Amino acid sequence: MGESIPRTMSLPVLLEPGRIELREVAVPVPGPGELLVRVEVALTCGTDVKTYRRGHPKIPLPAPLGHEFAGTAAAVGEGVTAFAAGEALASVHTAPCGACAFCRRGRENLCAAAMDQMLLGAFAPYLLLPARLVRTNVFPRPAGMSATTAAALEPLACVVHGLTRIPLGEAGTVAILGDGPIALLFLQVLRARSTAPVVLVGRHETRMRVARNLGAARVVTAFEGLAGDGPGQETVREALRDVGAPAGADVVVECVGAPEAWRLAFALTAPGGTALMFGGCPADTRAAFETYRIHYEEVDVRGAFHFTPRDVRKALGLLAAGQVRIEPLVTHRRPLGELRHALDLVMRREAIKVALCPDVSSEHP
Ligand SMILES: [Zn+2]
Ligand SMILES: [Zn+2]
Repeated sequence: MGESIPRTMSLPVLLEPGRIELREVAVPVPGPGELLVRVEVALTCGTDVKTYRRGHPKIPLPAPLGHEFAGTAAAVGEGVTAFAAGEALASVHTAPCGACAFCRRGRENLCAAAMDQMLLGAFAPYLLLPARLVRTNVFPRPAGMSATTAAALEPLACVVHGLTRIPLGEAGTVAILGDGPIALLFLQVLRARSTAPVVLVGRHETRMRVARNLGAARVVTAFEGLAGDGPGQETVREALRDVGAPAGADVVVECVGAPEAWRLAFALTAPGGTALMFGGCPADTRAAFETYRIHYEEVDVRGAFHFTPRDVRKALGLLAAGQVRIEPLVTHRRPLGELRHALDLVMRREAIKVALCPDVSSEHP
């Protein structure tokens, strides 16, 4: 104990797309099994930006924002024995129920209860972790791991889950569509787990520079190319020929979340290969695929959503081993109060990820 916890704090709440209100709310007191975290770092995520811009099918408004965070235990509820006040933590923001049909089959990522009770509100000084989360998906932060690195546990767990959906062992070549944080995490995990050259297709020079530094064999700009048969597709095919894949990539990972990108991912997949559709599109989006390629060429189309507790533990291991680096993706650091500015930086593609920290003064670059 020893830490003095204020009685109230300001919590940014999204009222409707584009409208954030700062509310003065009581700092929660942890009940049985719960844990109060003092947030050290919260990261912006594509989901926050999407929700801010157009709402989100899984997040009814008004709702607080922010789900990628790391902090220290400020107070623990009755019955919590695994953590002590003052301990540095790593956590995600959902936990499966453990009892439904999906959970019993080891597909906890599809558990409806996990989504219904997701924890939001990490862009605030304190965050209350519910009991189920504390039991399942909260960990002591490994020694030497920075809060910024630990805060990326959730997106990395999603990427680790995506990896379980592709036959990576058989892949001679991989292509990634997109240059956002998820694409850059996939790049690093693929480089750690496979010797296959990775071709990354993006649009933004600053992000593609990071991709080069993180080991992409080829980085291709495709401005229009992320639309199915736009002029960019030929450029991507050329890059694939350069790395010895004239028939396409054995694995294509789509990290854009737009139907044009889904179609391009399908088109660039080699016979016998797998297209992993990682980027979620707005509800009711449709995409059509040639039956010929799925039947005669055995092109597999797979999706990946969220993560299981196994994926979370694997992701924590990758971060602890330094096999995935988060610092190159965190281009800006701002005080918590500048959330709107941080989201703007990401929307303008000036930032890859912004770290919002209670302790950073606004003069920090
Ligand atoms: Zn996220
Ligand atoms: Zn369940």
